[in-house]
Amino acid sequence: MLKGIAASEGIGIGKIFAVTQQKITYEQKPVIGVHKEIERLHDAIDTFVEKTEALAEKMEQSVNEKDAKIIRGHITMLSDPFMISQMEDMIKNDTCAEAAAESVLNMFRDVFAAAEDELTQQRATDVEDIKTRLLKILLGIEDTDLKDLPPNTVLVVEDLTPSMTAELNKDNIAAIVTESGGMTSHSAILSRALEIPAVLSVTGALGTLKQDTFVIVDGIDGTVITDPTLAEKEEYEKKRAAYLADKELLKAFTGKPTLTADGKKKEVFCNVGNPKDAIQARDRDGEGVGLFRTEFLFMDRDMMPDESEQYEAYKKVADTLEGKTIIIRTLDVGGDKEIPYMGLAKEENPFLGYRAIRYCLNNEDKFKVQLRALIRANADSGGNIWVMIPMVTSVGEIKKVRELAEEIAAETGLGLPKIGTMIETPAAFIMADTLAKYCDFFSIGTNDLTQYIMAADRGNSDVAYLYNTYDPAVLRALKGIIGAAVDAGIPVGMCGEAAADPMLIPLLLSFGLEEFSVSPTSVLRTRREISVWSTEEADAVAEKALSFETAEEVEEYLKSIRK
Ligand code: PEP
Ligand code: MG
Repeated sequence: MLKGIAASEGIGIGKIFAVTQQKITYEQKPVIGVHKEIERLHDAIDTFVEKTEALAEKMEQSVNEKDAKIIRGHITMLSDPFMISQMEDMIKNDTCAEAAAESVLNMFRDVFAAAEDELTQQRATDVEDIKTRLLKILLGIEDTDLKDLPPNTVLVVEDLTPSMTAELNKDNIAAIVTESGGMTSHSAILSRALEIPAVLSVTGALGTLKQDTFVIVDGIDGTVITDPTLAEKEEYEKKRAAYLADKELLKAFTGKPTLTADGKKKEVFCNVGNPKDAIQARDRDGEGVGLFRTEFLFMDRDMMPDESEQYEAYKKVADTLEGKTIIIRTLDVGGDKEIPYMGLAKEENPFLGYRAIRYCLNNEDKFKVQLRALIRANADSGGNIWVMIPMVTSVGEIKKVRELAEEIAAETGLGLPKIGTMIETPAAFIMADTLAKYCDFFSIGTNDLTQYIMAADRGNSDVAYLYNTYDPAVLRALKGIIGAAVDAGIPVGMCGEAAADPMLIPLLLSFGLEEFSVSPTSVLRTRREISVWSTEEADAVAEKALSFETAEEVEEYLKSIRK
């Protein structure tokens, strides 16, 4: 079994068609007539533009307009007068058209590849694609014909280029396997747009996956199974059928508002851990971001990111979600989240120790850098960024945060963002009505709330039997927190894992939860689960569930009434 990145969901079963990279070779000939050689280059560019426009038109029909734009971008790139003049200059210096094109395009490719952000790096693949196609035109090499591949073909390529995609008859492609490319590469974006299962970055795929052999590609788990046994084939046929049936059902919920069965409006937001996840949140139809964990910005490095780096990251997420609400959590360091250069000492009880807002308020200078970046990003994003404080245990903490934020807002002359708190400690639950006076919103962190209410470490398997969100103690807390927010008239969401638990949805609806923040892959499923419950039914389930005395009874009951 080979492992790679699960970049496009689904199961594909079929025979391999491997596109081995044709090595493009040519001899460097001396330039006999400069004028003629430049004309040859221009003719090749014209042919490139013609062919690419035809591909883009095809792609508009077979994929979508947005992705056809990628292809049209190739025309813009190669029509750049600066790039063309560089090639001409080389020809004037006795370099043949092929070598001039190769050398100039390599230079552009390397500049893009060295960029910091992944989207710009991605342009390097575009330039590589342009180069290969232009050289083929200059040398009269025909493209590998991908138009007439037979049904159930598993395409194995170094990297799926936009031009290849345009050629494909997507109905015949069971899956795609590539040797390179990550979640945001063209290969990933295009295979998702085509809805073809894809596993990317499979090391040595072109060497290992032999032409015409039978293979199973699991784009859900990111695996490729060569020469499967009969039992494996049957297992994956079943998995594929179940996946397709489910997908069909969930499709109906794409682009739709989240409504209960009796038409009450709810929202399904996404939890994201980095800007890449934000792309997923948007593509998976999240109605906003309910928790952006900022720790990724601070981890795997030697020093804190400065204000501008933080600003860029926050702004980027807001830009990606195009006007939707983005709830950004301030640094949640400590507990299970270690950041070595922050100088936190080893503690006997890290979960009860110096962490999150406790650390931030004791390191005001560092905290203010983050607050300033957030306030600036919010001002430049139309007020869509809400600031969320983790691990709050006392009203004094949130009052202090407000004070600091107001100071910065006054200094910068910018507006104050909405400031809210995570409710993830028993103290915050008990004081929820008072906290609500100083908060613009609440979001319940059930991952921590459960561990603190049950006094059971969330990572300790010996006490996992106690760490249970179905426990009546936790359920009563959830009811109390949501009720306090509803009474105070502030929005209340949930960003802990429990928000995506279908068994809890009727209870959360009955308590009055408005926003469910889940992983991008759970958006449609959560929307569907919400849609099956009316308020009346949900209330009846909640009343019954709260009458039980143990987590086991609650769980058994909730299982029995699942729709
Ligand atoms: C939580 O505690 O529920 C939560 C969402 O935060 P984290 O898992 O990052 O602690
Ligand atoms: Mg937490």
